[in-house]
Amino acid sequence: MPTFTYGTTTIDYILYRQERRDMKISITLANLVFYQGRFIATVPQNWSQKQVQDTLEKQLIRWYRKQGVKKLQQRTTYYQSLLNVQPKSINLRTQHKRRGTCTPDGDIYINWRLIMAPSNVFDYVIVHELTHLIIQDHSVEFWKLVKFILPDYEYRKEWLRVNGLSLQHQKEQTCSLSFL
Ligand SMILES: [Zn+2]
Repeated sequence: MPTFTYGTTTIDYILYRQERRDMKISITLANLVFYQGRFIATVPQNWSQKQVQDTLEKQLIRWYRKQGVKKLQQRTTYYQSLLNVQPKSINLRTQHKRRGTCTPDGDIYINWRLIMAPSNVFDYVIVHELTHLIIQDHSVEFWKLVKFILPDYEYRKEWLRVNGLSLQHQKEQTCSLSFL
């Protein structure tokens, strides 16, 4: 089965090559749908493997971005009411090394690729960044508050570490999830 690989995630998909000789119009575009838990791609018969990979990759990114915005809004709304905080903004962003960022002004950016991480890990990054709206450093009080919201946060944090990622406090009071 062909696969896409992004960061630490590998996604299987089913590939159909299609040529409609019976119709005047030929299929010139790739079609990608998510059906019953997997991606199904349909591409023109004569496309090279590279053309297939490049096109589907772009479509996959578009799909995730759209789904990610929905997921981000739902999860943030839930946790910001628990923490009683209001970020100035929260957005998905393409970040090559950083996975989540909370600026001193209260803008939160989450790397859209993180939506491919397990949902509980995604939630942990949101809670982590929202908690910085109350406590900016990684003090004992900070972790107590994270634990109050997510009692098993250590397991979620461990997942990031095992997968080569960690949230680190950096200059100018921003907290970023970085590659180790
Ligand atoms: Zn942090």
